[in-house]
Amino acid sequence: MSAPLIRGYEVVIGLETHAQLSTRSKIFSGASTAFGAEPNTQACAVDLALPGTLPVMNRTAVERAIRFGLAVGAKVAPLSIFARKNYFYPDLPKGYQISQYEIPVVQGGQIRFMLGQTPKSVNLTRAHLEEDAGKSLHEDYHGLTGIDLNRAGTPLLEIVTEPDMRSSAEAVEYAKALHALVMWLGICDGNMQEGSFRCDANVSVRRPGAPFGTRREIKNLNSFRFMSQAIDYEINWQIDQIEDGLAIEQATVLFNPDTGETRSMRSKEDAHDYRYFPDPDLPPLVIAAQWIEEVRATLPELPAAMAERFVRDDGLPAYDAAMVTQSLPFARYYEAARDACCAPKLVANWMMGEVSRRLNTEGRSIAASPVDAATLAALIRRIGDGTISNNAARQVFDVLWADAGPVSGDATARIDAVIEARASSR
Ligand code: ADP
Ligand code: MG
Repeated sequence: MSAPLIRGYEVVIGLETHAQLSTRSKIFSGASTAFGAEPNTQACAVDLALPGTLPVMNRTAVERAIRFGLAVGAKVAPLSIFARKNYFYPDLPKGYQISQYEIPVVQGGQIRFMLGQTPKSVNLTRAHLEEDAGKSLHEDYHGLTGIDLNRAGTPLLEIVTEPDMRSSAEAVEYAKALHALVMWLGICDGNMQEGSFRCDANVSVRRPGAPFGTRREIKNLNSFRFMSQAIDYEINWQIDQIEDGLAIEQATVLFNPDTGETRSMRSKEDAHDYRYFPDPDLPPLVIAAQWIEEVRATLPELPAAMAERFVRDDGLPAYDAAMVTQSLPFARYYEAARDACCAPKLVANWMMGEVSRRLNTEGRSIAASPVDAATLAALIRRIGDGTISNNAARQVFDVLWADAGPVSGDATARIDAVIEARASSR
């Protein structure tokens, strides 16, 4: 299928995502990674880069990287190398970031997702382990910049795609699928407000069939809505430039949510600007085949496999199966409701319809749904046995939703009480 064109141009997008690995301590030190502490209370001598300190690899961070590599069908490198990425910034105490460069721990792999009704697959180039930097606080002090080093040394997995995506919608669906996967695997809490999952979008445009255009990189997108707005703005900005006969210069840009515009932050540095070299303080990371097999044995059933199972065994359309496997709690809710009412398609319809609509408008997670799986199943049974119509069921659902008290007792009794109260009030 040919890629969609915008104003006669094809869009090319590659994403780089920083997923914070959920570990108790930092990637190379024993300091806590807990969010929200007083500034600089969780930065130890190693994080502060005091002379004489040495980094020590966090085993759990490596285990998380292996889990990811196996889940995306990548090669988990038996040997990978930590490198120093050198740059000067006030919130980077060592003057370099420990990252991986020439040989990353995860190589290749794929992320699959649905773009509307169309199955898509984006190739991963690599995923590498690295440490986060600290944070500069510009708002809190007038005329001054504060530095909080609590984040310094937080373990990150940077996940890099090939330039495979062809629209902002495809980039957003990829990012959502990746976000769901890392949470499903339990390797990242996925909290985008707290910075646990942030994306950089590399965007270029070209005439169909022409070589790739020069890209600009939009940094630190921490919401899917911002990602969509930023990429769309950037596409039109680049096309305007080209139509005006101007060249695109490679640059790093920031998205301003208040204006909806991207603005150049600096001309993009290339790899050679960072003077990468292997970190002499860390030996090569060697991962034994046996460890990889041990991790493989602990992998949960993955969303794609679970969705296939729902298509095969429950007869769900692929789209519905993808929707109900959007997160582990969603899938568990689906399975519980399906088992209780034996009407898989109706459960999926309600979950994609009323339940999602209410959860989205109220910003709730499904775990906090006032209508639990057993109650939804009981409602669906009452539609099935002809007690109430679909329309009436929607009204009963609204009553149940508003009845925010703790869910207790028998779900069917609860439904019947609401149905009866409704009937007698007319
Ligand atoms: P760097 O080493 O400078 O970060 P990479 O080659 O690693 O550059 O690419 C970084 C990201 O940019 C990758 O996700 C890649 O897919 C994407 N990318 C590369 N070239 C283009 C392009 N012409 N248009 C859009 N994205 C691109
Ligand atoms: Mg890169």
